[in-house]
Amino acid sequence: MPSTDTLIDLRSDTVTRPTAAMREAMAAAPVGDDVYGDDPSVNALQARVAEMTGMEAALLLPTGTQSNLVALLAHCERGDEYIVGQSYHTYRYEGGGAAVLGSIQPQPIPVQDDGSLALEDIEAHIKPDDLHFARSRLLALENTCNGRVLSVEYVHSAAALARRHGLNVHMDGARLFNAVVAAGVTLQHYTGAMDSVSLCFSKGLGAPVGSMLAGSQALIHAARRWRKMTGGGMRQAGILAAAIDHALTHHVADLAADHRRAAMLAEGLSALNRVEAVTVNTNMIYMTLPDAHSGDVLQARLAEQGVLISGGRRIRLVMHRDIDDDGVQRVLDLIGTALAA
Ligand SMILES: *Cc1c(COP(=O)(O)O)cnc(C)c1O
Repeated sequence: MPSTDTLIDLRSDTVTRPTAAMREAMAAAPVGDDVYGDDPSVNALQARVAEMTGMEAALLLPTGTQSNLVALLAHCERGDEYIVGQSYHTYRYEGGGAAVLGSIQPQPIPVQDDGSLALEDIEAHIKPDDLHFARSRLLALENTCNGRVLSVEYVHSAAALARRHGLNVHMDGARLFNAVVAAGVTLQHYTGAMDSVSLCFSKGLGAPVGSMLAGSQALIHAARRWRKMTGGGMRQAGILAAAIDHALTHHVADLAADHRRAAMLAEGLSALNRVEAVTVNTNMIYMTLPDAHSGDVLQARLAEQGVLISGGRRIRLVMHRDIDDDGVQRVLDLIGTALAA
């Protein structure tokens, strides 16, 4: 297998590695014990993210899963429920944490082709105050959802509907910066309609570790307690905060290049032999082959040549900052050759 320096890894944007400049910022960060609230780099970052999102406060967490979990635990009590997309991360990919650890019941509903939840579906699943039902407490959105951007108008309509029924609204914004860059709006166009938002920095933004949760003082106060209880109270975390701060300053605008390269790759792929369908949204490409075997064979062929992809019939390819224009061309050439064989 080729060395990790020449690998092109399209499995996810989580594979991005910190740059030399990011590592320098991390090395230079002033630190303290963040459980005591003493880490100046963490405190500065939390203030920065609160301001950027227009929220009262923000909190650094090790992962997006924990950020979403503590948000759910802070919004909901035992016997409450959150309305969520059937394929959303906060329902499907977080080990059922809200139910396991919070006795919070998910109410999953179908996700539309554009990644949204139909307003009629949301409304139909909000329960009246009746002792037969769990208490509907929260609407959980996701943006982007498999790369799909929710429009600002939609997010505000969904939030207004939820509020009319007394629900709070959380956004799993693991890739919200991709949405912001793609839609050409500001972060606050989205966060202005939310009670809380979770942001990931270990994906396309290139930090090694870290997510942020933003919300009201009261919510973040509760989330901080849950974070400690679930083992996320870190000590000299300023080293991680410095990486995130660096990403916020230097890497957000670069997401546009990822989107441009994803479109380039998608265009090239759709012209190839045996590729049945290609869709692209922000930095995510889905390529459909005739069957799962073809995908598994392609995966093995490419791995021998230093390109990592997932297998199966419908293959997700994720563009990120560690792949440049030459990398896109190399991937296209290798996939073209492999599928022609
Ligand atoms: C990656 C991701 C998360 C958080 O994942 P972690 O690996 O725990 O950081 C949450 N939501 C979505 C939509 C994601 O893609």
